[in-house]
Amino acid sequence: MSLTTREDVRLKVYQRCGGRCECVRSHCQHPRVVGGSRCTRTFSYDGKWELHRLTAGSEYTVSGCEALCVECHKQTQSYGG
Ligand SMILES: [Zn+2]
Ligand SMILES: [Zn+2]
Repeated sequence: MSLTTREDVRLKVYQRCGGRCECVRSHCQHPRVVGGSRCTRTFSYDGKWELHRLTAGSEYTVSGCEALCVECHKQTQSYGG
């Protein structure tokens, strides 16, 4: 077990995403640039975004999580998890 806390993971994931939603789901209704797939919504670290685990119920790790804006997070299967 590492001593990495969920807040550490949240910070690292935020640094990776650069303040931009990482959602690339094709079925998602998020805004995207022409020809692109990634959501164009942005947020501040203290703003409205969610640390979303790629596998529901798994541990919070940097590689196992993505930064999603609130609207994209609502469209994931494990919303609330
Ligand atoms: Zn989004
Ligand atoms: Zn999305």
